[in-house]
Amino acid sequence: MKLHALIRHAIKGVSRFLPLKPSAWSLKPSAWSLSFLLLTAPGCGSAFQNINILSDADEIALGREFSREIEKEIKLYTDPEAVRYVDELCQTLARHSTRSNIQYYIKVVDTDEVNAFALPGGYLYVNRGLISIAGTESELAGVIAHEIAHVAARHGAKALTRQLGLEIILGMISGRNPSGVQRVASQLAGVGGILSMLHYSRQAEREADAMAVVNLREAGYDPGGVTLFFEKLLEINDREPGALATLFATHPPSRERVENTRKQIAALPVLDGLTTDSERFQQVRTQLPPLKDNPLEKDEEEHSVHEN
Ligand SMILES: [Zn+2]
Repeated sequence: MKLHALIRHAIKGVSRFLPLKPSAWSLKPSAWSLSFLLLTAPGCGSAFQNINILSDADEIALGREFSREIEKEIKLYTDPEAVRYVDELCQTLARHSTRSNIQYYIKVVDTDEVNAFALPGGYLYVNRGLISIAGTESELAGVIAHEIAHVAARHGAKALTRQLGLEIILGMISGRNPSGVQRVASQLAGVGGILSMLHYSRQAEREADAMAVVNLREAGYDPGGVTLFFEKLLEINDREPGALATLFATHPPSRERVENTRKQIAALPVLDGLTTDSERFQQVRTQLPPLKDNPLEKDEEEHSVHEN
């Protein structure tokens, strides 16, 4: 990504979507200058780090801009059956989420790499490689519900506010503060930059896990899918450290997360008729191109070598 183009794009894009009038923001003008100071004074902002200053409309507009930037660099998987299936699963979960009033968009990224991520405002991405290693529909649903939860809890919007601060956002809108814009542009450079800016705390990950468990149940899916998928990731990582490096950098699975979700599920009343798997999921999954370096198959091969 060329920096100048990015700056131009960032300024143009953000100013197109972010209203100039303070009244359109979720903070009143009187509170504006106060939060400006709090968010930018070093060492003083910690108590205010969780303030989300973006309105729904602002957040969606920024998410859309990020998604445009990211999609310049990634290749999308466009098989209509797979795309339709993943979208329908996402919409079902979104309807039962705690933020069902906004539109969710989900796209499949055409890569073997195992990962998924969410941008503010409801823009979700799941890699083809992740669908391939999910064993059941409820595992995939667990991952998507986790990403929906990041959006529902506004983790991305909060991280953005924390990282950029109101000063920078205002500078980008008005064209003043060019050094701030430059800093943001360099932070924004490429998929990696955007994702690292949206880095979530362990607390946010825990919250998204807990919300995913509830979301799955409400939508009629076995919430055990969340735990199962984490366990699978940990197993892969134990066997082949580094195989899931990107995923571990953005969504580090841990024994603690497995235990937390397991305890949460055990404490919930038993619900009958929850979906664990579907023929449609298995059909979609088996029709995906085979992974070049499938960490699960590798394990089976190793096992068979040991057994022989
Ligand atoms: Zn996460």
